[in-house]
Parts: sequence; C-alpha cells; structure tokens
Amino acid sequence: PDVGELEALQHADVARLLPVPGVESDKYRRGVVGIAAGSARYPGAAVLAVAGALRGGAGAVRYVGPAKDAVIARFPETLVSDQGPRHAGRVQAWVVGPGAADDASAVGEVIAAHVPVLLDADGLRLADPDAVRARTAPTLMTPHAGEAAALLGVGREEVEAGRLDAVRELARRYRATVLLKGSTTLVADPEGGAVRVNATGTSWLATAGSGDVLSGLVGSLLAAGLSALDAGSVGAYLHGLAGRYAADGAPVGAHDVAEAVPGAWRDVC
Ligand code: AMP
Ligand code: MG
Repeated sequence: PDVGELEALQHADVARLLPVPGVESDKYRRGVVGIAAGSARYPGAAVLAVAGALRGGAGAVRYVGPAKDAVIARFPETLVSDQGPRHAGRVQAWVVGPGAADDASAVGEVIAAHVPVLLDADGLRLADPDAVRARTAPTLMTPHAGEAAALLGVGREEVEAGRLDAVRELARRYRATVLLKGSTTLVADPEGGAVRVNATGTSWLATAGSGDVLSGLVGSLLAAGLSALDAGSVGAYLHGLAGRYAADGAPVGAHDVAEAVPGAWRDVC
C-alpha cells in the first residue's frame, strides 16, 4: 500500500480519546452497550463480547440472546433481557453478531435501531446490505480477511493481497466505517479519506474468541460517544496492547486478552 495514505494513532491521541468518567458522570452518560451475540452452539462468544464491553468502560452492558445464563454466571453485572433487541430498553450502541449463528431477526432489529451499530462475524453475513446503507446512525463493520472476502464476493487471497483497496471498497459499498482485522488492522471511513492503521497487536492474538473481545470493547467506545473511526482505531490499539501484555511472549486465551484491557488503558493514560 501507499504508506502516505495511512495514519496511525499515537499514545497521546488514544489518551485524549479514552472516555474517562468525570465527577458529573453516571452509568447512562458513560454509555449503555447492547450485545446481541452467542447461540446454543457458541455461547462463549457472548461471554467474550460482554467481557470486552465491560473492560471497555461501558456504564452498563445489556445482553440479549440465548447465552444469558452463561453470561450472568461469569459477569453478574450484566443486564439481561428475554426479549429481542427491539424491546431491550435503553442502549446507546449495539454490537451484533459474534457467535450469533443464524439469528437473522436479531441482526435486522439491531440494524433498524437509531444508534451506532457494530456488525461482526455472523452479523456481517446476515446483514441486509440495503438496510445497512440506509442507516442514518453510524455503522462499523469488523471483518477479518475471510469475512471481508465473502462480503466482496472475492477470494481471501485477493483481500490479503490488497487490504487497503478491500477496506476502502467495503466502506464505500456499505456506506459504513470498516475495520479490517489481521496482523495489522486498517480502519476506513465511507468518505474515503485517510485510512488508519494499527500495529500494536501480536500474533498471539490469532486465537479463537479474540475478535469477540474486540467487538465488545469497540462497542463500549461507541456507546461512550466516540465516532466509528475513533472507536474502531482506539479499540484496536487497546486490544493489541492488551494482547501483548496478556501474552508476554507465550500463548493466551481470548478471555486473558479482555482481562488485560484495563492494564493497557492505564498505560495509555
Ligand atoms: P477474529 O478473527 O475475529 O477472532 O479476530 C482476531 C483478532 O486478532 C483481530 O483483532 C486481529 O486483528 C487479531 N489478530 C489476528 N491475527 C493476528 C496477527 N497475526 N497479529 C496481530 N493481530 C492478529
Ligand atoms: Mg471473529
């Protein structure tokens, strides 16, 4: 890629953007993030997305989906609901898709919400492109190369060979901000200006569930009021650092990465 077109956030940029609560703050001002994720087959994806959201600074995390018991057992502070996203109550940003399997109705309900939405994993596959394009609130899509290739209708190698073109093309097609995951992460706005790159990560992050943690973390930043571009790039920065700290040169599980986010946050501030 033409490196001149890429921008990278520095420590000081991230410190300025992190939503630290003031004395006047309350949980609603900090932001309520809704997580529609998990399935009977993949309950752990819901737990990991909630973990990322809690460590990402949300004032409250609301979960809807079939993995309620697993979520509550691990994180009793989560608000859970028996109804779909449409009736879930106050939510300032939604994350939909990690481990969601075939729950197209939850994806449709979230896309119809008038708040920022993060689409990941099955949420990317199940989203109606016209409905995404018609959204007026911000949309952030977080595919890895395989998911980006499926959305573009090309082979994975084509995305790998032209990551900058792929992230820009997806942003244009969906009129959404797109965060393309990988050894470096690219974040592109639909307006097609500069693309942000993040390289704080480590290859130990190439582990199951790592992306689910990222989705919750970025969802919290959206709920706190960051733009999709800032939330995506700050989230990728913290997630990468957290992966580095958690791994410290040895294997990690995705839950370890979530637990290391506060340490990364502290170091940035
Ligand atoms: P997912 O594929 O959805 O589980 O997401 C994987 C997460 O790990 C993303 O945040 C990627 O950017 C990150 N990741 C995967 N492989 C690498 C790698 N080789 N180096 C750095 N980060 C990686
Ligand atoms: Mg994933």
